[in-house]
Amino acid sequence: MKNVLFIAPPAAGKGTQSDMLVKNYGYVHISTGDLLRNVDINTDLGKRIREIQASGHLVEDEIVFRLLEDKLKSIKGNHFLLDGCVRNVKQASMLEDLLSKLDVKLDAVIVLDVPYDVLLKRAIGRISCPRCKSIYNKFFKKPIKVDVCDNCNEKLVSRNDDNEEAFKVRYQTYLENATPLMDFYDKLNKLIKVDGTKDTDKKISETIKND
Ligand code: AMP
Repeated sequence: MKNVLFIAPPAAGKGTQSDMLVKNYGYVHISTGDLLRNVDINTDLGKRIREIQASGHLVEDEIVFRLLEDKLKSIKGNHFLLDGCVRNVKQASMLEDLLSKLDVKLDAVIVLDVPYDVLLKRAIGRISCPRCKSIYNKFFKKPIKVDVCDNCNEKLVSRNDDNEEAFKVRYQTYLENATPLMDFYDKLNKLIKVDGTKDTDKKISETIKND
């Protein structure tokens, strides 16, 4: 097994793949967004973090890495899947420093490769059930009745950022940050590109087991 970090464009299926690794291999899923959201809102730090998160800007590196260090220490050598960190090359080198201090290795940086037109359809077609959280897609995974959840008959909804205009912005932001990050990890020989459109579970499983 390997310690893994994902780099993936919006709507590439990172959530689905993370769930698969947790369920099938017992990975610890570490999301820095969640670590930040879990800081008590009744503290000054918690309030500050919520404000920054609501604005869509990045929280200071020092805060993120303090939480990340505590979390990595607490999982005591279990394999992890890092999500939401790193956001840029500065964080990537901070992560290298932190992991070497803790004597932990990041083995693989998996890039989910999905063509733009497929991502766009996945995003604008995505509808989900507000009650049971089931996810459907108007193009690829239609519910039996239009816009109604198969499990609980609830009306299905779209995320407010899953429209074409917002998707283009999110994709552009991803590209700007991801390209230098991929170069960074490619130089460290950690970059593994996986086709995110077919046999993705199987290819990721092979990748993490292959030492
Ligand atoms: P996410 O859950 O990954 O979508 O992140 C939600 C928000 O948490 C981001 O918009 C940032 O405000 C903050 N955040 C999450 N991860 C990081 C990180 N690695 N560095 C800085 N801010 C982060």
